Amino acid sequence: MSGLHNTKSKTLSALCALLACICAFMLAACSSSSTQQVSASITDDYQIKVEVPLSGAWSRIEAQCAQTPEMDNATLAYCNIEGDVAVAYFGSLEQGQTYYVRYIGCEGSGSTENKEYSESFGITVSTGQTATGSLLSRDSSANDGVPYALIVGAVVCVLLIVFALLLLVMKVYVSRTSHRIAAIKQLNEDYLPLIGMPTRLMTFPYNLTSKQQFDRFDAEGVILSKAVLEKERFDEMVMHYITAKANLRDYQTHVAQIEPTQFRHKLLANEEARQFAKLRYKRRDSFSLARVVWTYISPKGRNRYSDEAAYGDEMLAAVVSKAESREGEKAVYEAHKAQERAAMTPQMRYDVLARDGYRCVRCGATAEMGAVLHVDHIIPVSKGGKTEMDNLQTLCEDCNLGKGNRYCE
Ligand SMILES: [Zn+2]
Repeated sequence: MSGLHNTKSKTLSALCALLACICAFMLAACSSSSTQQVSASITDDYQIKVEVPLSGAWSRIEAQCAQTPEMDNATLAYCNIEGDVAVAYFGSLEQGQTYYVRYIGCEGSGSTENKEYSESFGITVSTGQTATGSLLSRDSSANDGVPYALIVGAVVCVLLIVFALLLLVMKVYVSRTSHRIAAIKQLNEDYLPLIGMPTRLMTFPYNLTSKQQFDRFDAEGVILSKAVLEKERFDEMVMHYITAKANLRDYQTHVAQIEPTQFRHKLLANEEARQFAKLRYKRRDSFSLARVVWTYISPKGRNRYSDEAAYGDEMLAAVVSKAESREGEKAVYEAHKAQERAAMTPQMRYDVLARDGYRCVRCGATAEMGAVLHVDHIIPVSKGGKTEMDNLQTLCEDCNLGKGNRYCE
């Protein structure tokens, strides 16, 4: 019965199963006890003819006849088998007088001790009189008229119902009177709207066109660029989570501060603990807020490769701050570039050209030869190069464009 203690639903289902078993058991017990109609009639020569239909269940039938229902001084008659009916006759009877007839049937093997049933009923001696009784197969070990299985089933049923009622009463009593249950219900009411986690999930799917692309796929790069491009969406989700998390911490602190149980009895305390655990908000351990899914399907769809990276709240917060710092770097870099470009005055440009003799320092081309001369940063601005005479040189357009951002030796 201790197994019925776990949860309400388990208790109920266990009870249902047990009741079903008992019902089945009782039905089986009832259907196994067969009833046979037996009859007595008065013959033309004023004898009582007792007829008992024979079936496999009965091994021996005896008949008794007496003038009182208690069967005092009864006459015994053995039955003759006539076809599938056992027949016995009682003669030398007084007309108009009522006699009592009793059948004794032995079931099965014929051992009279185990399964025996008898029934008596009255019949008045007068031609045409008939009377019937029933011969009910049953276990004679039970003293009263009700089959043993029925009694056992009924007792178990009653016990189970009592047990279930007690359980229910205990549950209700605990939930109504427990300070802990009342406290956590109040906390749930106050906090649950603040700590709920949204289920919306950002998914970024990528269908790639080669296996090489698939192998080299940079999920973190994707999520970083998404965090920049869809900054508001990311920020909103991360902020929601951070707030919800802070509220959850508050909730958990308050839950831990709820006073210990007031119940001294272990059964009540256990029931309270069970209800408390059920009411207490539990956050899922892991979940993802954003997902990057990348797939490559080979030509004709022979092979399908798929992988994904999931980002939970903490990881997303890191991604957002990383994206922000990358954006910050970019802003600093843009500011630096603008500043250095602004530092290049027409005077400075002229000074550099004059210093280098109005010719490309790389190939020696001059304006007279048709070259377009540029003043170039030796260490590029993008690499932190400054706009100073030492870092400037004259290059023709061809040489300058071929150089790109490489350092000049
Ligand atoms: Zn040149």
